[in-house]
Order: sequence, then C-alpha cells, then structure tokens
Amino acid sequence: MRYQGREVDIEGRVRLVMESALTARDRVGVQDFVLLENYNSEAAFIENLRRRFRENLIYTYIGSVLVSVNPYKELEIYSKQQMERYRGVSFYEISPHIYALSDNTYRAMRTERKDQCILISGESGAGKTEASKKILLYYAVTCPTNDHMAILGDRLLQSNPVLEAFGNAKTLRNDNSSRFGKYMDVQFDFRGTPVGGHILNYLLEKSRVVHQNHGERNFHIFYQLLDGGDDDLLITLDLERNPQNYRYLVKGNCPRVSSISDKNNWKVVMKALPVIGFTEEEVQKLLNIIASVLHLGNTQFGEGEEGDTYITTETQTSNLAKLLGVDGSALREALTHKKLTAKGEEMISPLNYEQAVSARDALAKAVYGRTFTWLVEKINQSLALKVHSKDSSVIGLLDIYGFEVLQQNSFEQFCINYCNEKLQQLFIELTLRSEQEEYETEGIAWETVQYFDNKIICDLIEEKHKGIISILDEECLRPGETCDVSFLEKLEDTVGSHPHFITHKLANGKTRRVVSREEFRLLHYAGEVNYNVNGFLDKNNDLLNRNLKEVMCQSDNQILSHCFRREEVIDQKRPEMAATQFKNSLMKLMEILMSKEPSYVRCIKPNDAKQPGRFDEVLVRHQVKYLGLMENLRVRRAGFAYRRRFEAFLQRYKPLCPETWPNWHGRLVDGVSTLVNHLGYKAEEYKLGRSKIFIRFPKTLFTTEDALEL
Ligand code: ATP
Ligand code: MG
Repeated sequence: MRYQGREVDIEGRVRLVMESALTARDRVGVQDFVLLENYNSEAAFIENLRRRFRENLIYTYIGSVLVSVNPYKELEIYSKQQMERYRGVSFYEISPHIYALSDNTYRAMRTERKDQCILISGESGAGKTEASKKILLYYAVTCPTNDHMAILGDRLLQSNPVLEAFGNAKTLRNDNSSRFGKYMDVQFDFRGTPVGGHILNYLLEKSRVVHQNHGERNFHIFYQLLDGGDDDLLITLDLERNPQNYRYLVKGNCPRVSSISDKNNWKVVMKALPVIGFTEEEVQKLLNIIASVLHLGNTQFGEGEEGDTYITTETQTSNLAKLLGVDGSALREALTHKKLTAKGEEMISPLNYEQAVSARDALAKAVYGRTFTWLVEKINQSLALKVHSKDSSVIGLLDIYGFEVLQQNSFEQFCINYCNEKLQQLFIELTLRSEQEEYETEGIAWETVQYFDNKIICDLIEEKHKGIISILDEECLRPGETCDVSFLEKLEDTVGSHPHFITHKLANGKTRRVVSREEFRLLHYAGEVNYNVNGFLDKNNDLLNRNLKEVMCQSDNQILSHCFRREEVIDQKRPEMAATQFKNSLMKLMEILMSKEPSYVRCIKPNDAKQPGRFDEVLVRHQVKYLGLMENLRVRRAGFAYRRRFEAFLQRYKPLCPETWPNWHGRLVDGVSTLVNHLGYKAEEYKLGRSKIFIRFPKTLFTTEDALEL
C-alpha cells in the first residue's frame, strides 16, 4: 500500500501517525483536549491552549466541541484549497478547523437526515461572528449548486454586510460588535444544495441609537452614510458630512475607528442591497429613515413659561417630517404633547422638557429598531425557499451575545445573561444529561460527573408569577406610583430569600457592601453579576406615546407605514413588554434548537487589547470558566468520547477483519467484539453496551479510520 510515496503496511502506517503526533505534542500541544493526560487540571488546559495559540493553531477540540481562540490577525487557513482539504474528511484525520466542524455537520445532516445546528458562543470580541461567516462561506463554496441556487448563495453571503451595517457597532471590546442576536437557518434539498435561508433576530440594543458610552459608536450605518454617501445624496437627505454635527453620534467621542473603513463598507452595503432584492426606491426610503434618526437627535426643545415645551429647531423639523414622510405640524405636536383618553374623552396635555426629550429618543429608537426588524424580514423574503421540497434539511447557526459583565449592568445585560443561562441549560440538557442517560440505558458503568444544573437560576428569572420578569411586568402595569426602586423592593419581598438572589439587605438587618441600594445581584452559573435597576421599568415598558404612533402610521414612507401599523393605535390592548417578548422568543429558540442535533463552537478572546500574539492567562481562565469548558472535558473523558451503533460500526469497519467481511451473520454484538479483538483494541479503550460500542479515546477510532483507508 502506498502512503506518501512509501510502501507501508497497516501497522507501519498507524505507528507513523502516532509517532508524529507524539513528537509534535510537546511543541504544539494536543489537538483534542480529551488527549490531555491531566484532564482535570485547568492549568494544563490553558497551557495546551497557549502552546497551540503560539503556533497559530487556534482550533482545538473537546471531543466534538470546537474551541477557537481569536488570533487577531489574518491566518492563511481559510483558502479554497483548505476548504477542499476538509471536504468529506473525517473529523480526526486532520487538524481541527472550523471547516472540519462545518463539513462534519453537513455530512451528518446528509447521512443521518437529521436537522443540525451549530451553536457559537463566547464573549464580545471572541470571534463568534467571524466563525459564523466562515461556516457560511464554507457551505457557499463547497456545496453542490446550480445557477439558480448560486443566486441564493450570493444572497446568503451578501446579507451579512447589510445586517452588520445596521446591527453592529464599535464598542470598547470589539470594533465590530454585533448588537443583536442572530439565528440563521440554512435549508438544503435532498442533493445537499442550499435552497433557502431564514434569519431570526433577537433584542437589538436600541438604546445605542440615542446614547453611546465613551469610546463607543452608534451603529455603523450612520457613519457609512456620512463618509461614503456622495454629495448629491447628502444634500437630498439634508446631511452634513461631519459626524460630529449629530448629537446621536457624538456621545462616545469616537467618530473614526482605525480598523474600519466606513467609506468602503458603505460601497459594500450599497452593492449588497440590490443583490438581496431591495429596489432603488426601497433603498432611498431606507436612507431617508437613517437620515431622519440623525435629524431627530438634533431636534432641540425650549421650555415655555408654563412648564410646556416647544421645538427650537424648526427648519430641521420640517426636513425631518419630509424624510419621515409625515405631516410636519402633527409631528411637532406629537413631539411636545401627549394624548390621553380619560372617561372616553381624548385630552391633549403638554410634555415638560424631560418628557419631550424622552419622547423624541423613544421615537428614534422605535424607528430604528422597527426598521431593523423590517430589514431582516426583507432579507428573509429574498432567502425564502422558492421550491418546497419534502426532503429538505436544515443547518441552523446561532451567533448570539455571550455572557456579559460590565462595570454597570442594566436591563440589557440582564436579558443577555438570561439568554446565556438558557443556552447553558440547553447545553446541559442536550449534552451532559443525554450522555449520562444514554450510558444508563446502554447499561454502561458511568462515573458520575458533578455538574451544576442551572435550572434554579432560569426559574428565578422566568417562572410565571414568581420570577423576576413577571415581577417586572407587574410593576410596569401596576397603577399608581411605580419606579425602579419599588421594583427592587418588590423583588426583595418576593425572591429575597432565593439562594441565587442578593440585595444590599442582610437577613440580620445590616447592609451588605458589595451590592448598592440600587442593585440586585444574581449568582449566575458563570459568576456573580450586579444589576442596577435604574431604567428597568422604562426599558421593559418600551413605550412610545400614542400620538407619535398615530403620526408614524400615516407615513407615506412604505417602510415606516409597514413598521407602524394602524391596528397598534386602534387596539388598546397592551403589547407584550420587552423582557416577556424576549423570554418568549428565547423559548421558541430553545424549541428550535432542541429539535436539532447540536454542535458547538466555543470562542475565546486571548486579550483585551485586540492584538495578535498576546495570550492573557487571567482573561482566558475566566472564559474557560464561563464557557464551562472544564466541565465539558470532564464529561467527555469520564465517559467515552465516541459511540456508534453496532450495525453502523460493523458496516463501516467490517472490511478490516476477515471474519466480519463481507458479512457477519451472528449477533451484532459478537460481530463487533470479533472485529475489535482483531483490531487489537485493549479492554480499557472500549465498552460494549446494549446496542452501541463506546470508545473511550478518539485516537482509537482515528487509528481504525486510518486502517480503513489503506
Ligand atoms: P460580539 O459579541 O461583540 O459581536 P464576536 O464574538 O462576534 O463579538 P467577532 O466580531 O467575530 O467577535 O470578532 C472580533 C474581531 O476579531 C474581528 O473583527 C476580527 O478582527 C477578529 N477575528 C475574529 N476571529 C478571527 C479569525 N478567525 N481570524 C482572524 N481574525 C479574527
Ligand atoms: Mg458578533
């Protein structure tokens, strides 16, 4: 048999592979953490990551989980040739790669005919979005296609820059931070050709439209328009080129980002929009909306003598009304007055200065947020399945915000971290629990692995009537004087004794220092986080004055009239509050994910400076903890890395043994036993269950796979 130009027998080949793996090991570490001798040691885990990172080997497995460390530099590992290398090749025959995971998932979908999903997690800047783009590109390049479907592939890829322009922003932690969660289904037909796609978006950080922290920016699209739009366009939109002229863009004092070319990105977005089916008119309307948000930010108020408010930027407001496609005087009135219905009668009362400012900001957030949702719908229309095929299968990609602990944590972090609790719960349910249960049903002895079941925290947050979200909703709806502090008090009364909930009050009446009077602390699975209740009620309410809604739903801008529906004004029923909406959308997401076979990509950020070559051990250790990687590894190693059904195992490897080839006629378990004896498996390497063989180490399978190729 030939192997790299040399004649070798099977044993020789196996020896060769194992030797090269061993000699390289000191330098580059092991490519699968299950091969670590001291698999319980966090230090050994991190050392292995560090060694590989130093050698630009950013990918490592924990069994079938892919761990990825952001290199913060372009590596030559994503070319078309590399894609070819990974195509159709078994997971362990070749160095770990996001392409290997993509390919494996694709093949599992094809051969097992089961929907798949790839869950990408990690903190901000760890490389989740880059990973999801690489997976998509892999499918776009390697999957079979035809002319018609090539268009779809193009749309799938082109939707990215558009979504990023509107949904990403420069933050302190990532120059291109996704400020929304994204789940994307790619649908494949029976030939394995991508035939459709669908995106679900989660909780866009709307507050960024009106406020940014120091060193951060608003969403990219604003800067792209100002930098890239040609002079005529800016004149039409009544805009000046300098972002410093717009109040919504100056808060972070950071108009330019060295790693970003707003001008080039603008071109990319403008090219992408028609590809994903936007008409010229729609593009124009979309730009009107972007410009109107900037003009809204510059709308200023003066205070009248009787506590009323008037607009001091009159000309700008006329232009604003034109861009929004609404009546100028109605807009003026709605920005400075509110409409109430008391005893069936409508009354108009003036807003004071603060109220007017917050009504204006609420309008800007609503306009931007709803336009973003419209954009996703529009993209979905262009990706929608054109031909419905019975045999289609799906690969879902989840790129969603990781666990977030900032200096000040608010409603947004609360939602984000809740989402991560749910994902952890899913992970536990799908991996840990099912693994344990499977060993049980197979009658295999299992070393129990202690793991923390975070259901208790999920319940604390989401339980009906008793959970934090319910209490928040109740407080928002309760008539009379409610405020963020009364919400906190209500929390203390209701969940104050929960083991994962803490406020400044100690049971003995004394005060706890680590939590201020405006905060509550949750003991999350990943660590403790203090949440400041300021703004919780407003953000959960997410209210827009009724008269502003009325004005907006009469807009002659089709996008806006689609976003602001008449029914919303007529229907007096209160829409779901923000946290409950989020909770419900997460429940749906969990259902979607539960129905699929999951794969995981765990992304790690090596340093806070966004620099190549720097590996900050403290930072990495934190993430290893938050991502639950040690626990993951323990489960993998305590049990068995692989399992295969007897028939599948026999079917695949029977050529390796004269007694099982071409067919085995006895009991399956005896066939597998004969086969592995022939292959020289040692007793500690495997166990035979009721219907499956369990293999402890990947290298055993790896060796067997290699033997098959020879
Ligand atoms: P967020 O939660 O803020 O959206 P994220 O996890 O999606 O963060 P990315 O935007 O994917 O983070 O990555 C941040 C930056 O890190 C990228 O803009 C890119 O510069 C760099 N980066 C990430 N992954 C890679 C990679 N595989 N190769 C080269 N650079 C990378
Ligand atoms: Mg991202």
